[in-house]
Amino acid sequence: MIRVRGLSKSYGRLQVLHEINLEIHKNEVVCIIGPSGSGKSTLLRCFNKLEEPSKGEVLINGCNLMDAKVDINKVRENIGMVFQSFHLFPHMTVLDNITLVPIQLKRETKSQAKESALALLDKVGLRDKANEYPERLSGGQKQRVAIARALAMNPDVMLFDEPTSALDPEMVGEVLQVMKQLAIEGMTMVIVTHEMGFAREVGDRVIFMDGGMIVEQNTPEQLFTNSQNPRVKDFLKKVL
Ligand code: ADP
Ligand code: MG
Repeated sequence: MIRVRGLSKSYGRLQVLHEINLEIHKNEVVCIIGPSGSGKSTLLRCFNKLEEPSKGEVLINGCNLMDAKVDINKVRENIGMVFQSFHLFPHMTVLDNITLVPIQLKRETKSQAKESALALLDKVGLRDKANEYPERLSGGQKQRVAIARALAMNPDVMLFDEPTSALDPEMVGEVLQVMKQLAIEGMTMVIVTHEMGFAREVGDRVIFMDGGMIVEQNTPEQLFTNSQNPRVKDFLKKVL
């Protein structure tokens, strides 16, 4: 579903991604871990061209994002993204936050969009908040709305960039639970996370990044209990 070949990214003279090669398959849940500044967010943002790669290729469902003929907005419609900070529209109700883009893009009529939004709110356990404004929600609730909003586009793949890092500890679980449910349903997901327990339990594969490179990718079991790589071992010693 996602194929990255020889991807490099520099900001001025600072090279933050070095010749990354990577494939994400349909229905796979891939967790990306690694120290702060290792390039995890930049890599994720190259998947939908929120960052322009300096070199290399990113293919989404075979469609090369570097190709000038590709309509990036069309590609983005099929890639859901959830950020650390929720990016909800503060002046809109939860329901309007979710239905805005599907209606704007004429994917659905207003009543269809409302119906699907309510079903999604059921899924994330927030149907009773449909008419609430974001400021009246807790962080965990906001993030679950953000996930519902991304799902409303019916994406092929969901990208998560530290979705629980901004949450109070007691709210982390409810968001991870929603993500776990998505994984069980077969959603293709790439998740940058510091939640090692989640990565281990839910990930099909874990990628460890350091210094703009993929240092190791492995099954969670292998990576967390049996890595031979000193950088991986050192990182895990600090965070586990
Ligand atoms: P991570 O998500 O693993 O913490 P990032 O991808 O955010 O890492 O950042 C990787 C490196 O790129 C860091 O050194 C960061 O300071 C740098 N960086 C990220 N975004 C920019 C930018 N817009 N301009 C300049 N440097 C940036
Ligand atoms: Mg980051």
